[in-house]
Amino acid sequence: MADKYNPLENVWAVVDKAASILGYQENEYAAVKYPERELKVAIPMVMDDGSFRVFEAYRIQHSTARGPAKGGIRFHPAVNQNEVEALAAWMSFKCAVVNVPFGGGKGGVAVDPRKLSERELFVLTQKYTQAIAPVIGPEEDIPAPDVGTTPQIMGWFMDTYSKLNTHNVLNCVTGKPIGLGGILGRGSATGRGVMMTVNNILAKLGKKMEGTSVAVQGMGNVGSATADFLYREGMKVVGVSDVSCGIYKEDGLNIPEILEYLKQDRKNLLKDYRAEGITFITNEELLELAVDVLVPAAMENMINVDNADKIRASVIVEAANGPTTSEADEILDCKGIYVVPDILANAGGVIVSYFEWVQNIQAYLWTEERVVETLHAMMDDAFKGVWDIAKENSVSLRTGAYLIAVKRVVTAQHGRGTYL
Ligand code: NAD
Repeated sequence: MADKYNPLENVWAVVDKAASILGYQENEYAAVKYPERELKVAIPMVMDDGSFRVFEAYRIQHSTARGPAKGGIRFHPAVNQNEVEALAAWMSFKCAVVNVPFGGGKGGVAVDPRKLSERELFVLTQKYTQAIAPVIGPEEDIPAPDVGTTPQIMGWFMDTYSKLNTHNVLNCVTGKPIGLGGILGRGSATGRGVMMTVNNILAKLGKKMEGTSVAVQGMGNVGSATADFLYREGMKVVGVSDVSCGIYKEDGLNIPEILEYLKQDRKNLLKDYRAEGITFITNEELLELAVDVLVPAAMENMINVDNADKIRASVIVEAANGPTTSEADEILDCKGIYVVPDILANAGGVIVSYFEWVQNIQAYLWTEERVVETLHAMMDDAFKGVWDIAKENSVSLRTGAYLIAVKRVVTAQHGRGTYL
């Protein structure tokens, strides 16, 4: 997918559209299309079997206009500069639309973490942290987990950065384990925010969560927490998938049992899961199920010109970053499908990362109740803002989200004299 589609083109297409509605001339917003800083590094490493490998890795800061760069670290074989640039830009607009005082950044290592031993993963994380240490820091750029990375990896990251600085720097990274500066509720925050978004959009359409059908693509950190919350809210989760395949059950899957199976071993895949009444389907079939709500929670470009016409859900809530290409977006819009964009729908993770950063600065522990309540208020406010501006301008929710986000980032750039 990453080769066939250019996620950056999707970002700039919607930024241009929003800028034109906002009345900006090209020379009043063009800087927003350039990452402020890009770092590419090589990570040489001896593997457990004695072989020697060099991994390519990146840290890209799209914007620091509104605050320190903020964004995850991805460990995935398809990581490349173009993808990391797009992911960094989405982070700037995501932080802007939910109004957390951060800019946007992203990092990644081209590696399949499922093929590494625990020791190899530890050494790779240490070496990556050392390599990007000159450009990151709690006031400059604060990483977090993304595809293929975990709280444990964030713990190793924090330890390495702290040793380089000869004292604990807890707030150099978020998504850390509890007890190592992590905040309660961060692990499931993106999924919880997606659930709140599903609730918000269904309420606008006069529907309830209870009994409404949903399919979730991707059963990693975000997809599994999302499926769990939606199940607990009474939704009928009829399909879920991971990289290996999808599973389907018309009257609803037993999500707690599936999650228990996946939790037993990080290498467990759905293709080996067994339960009565389930049917194995492909990821393509999962996206085309006749469900009320579809939640793509895997990778970019999954909904594209080849399948957009076949989507039967009436609502799509983007838990993944960039799951819909811009051409597909137009097709979905023409079909009258509501698409709640990634920069709004999956912002729960960065919002709670912001709370974690604040917690570390103040050295005052937040309760989970406070995390959930504050997250709820921010997700609801952001959703209302996007819904209202989209209706006022008769545009899609994605364009509405970018009207808010682009204005906030560009206004900050103007305030700094970027266009003088
Ligand atoms: P993860 O690595 O924990 O899980 C990814 C899931 O997607 C796995 O189940 C994997 O098997 C599946 N997958 C991978 N390739 C696939 C393919 N080609 N087809 C179908 N399934 C595939 O990653 P995650 O942290 O859950 O992130 C998922 C998405 O959510 C990404 O787009 C990420 O950028 C975005 N996101 C993550 C966070 C976060 O806090 N982790 C926050 C916001 C957005």
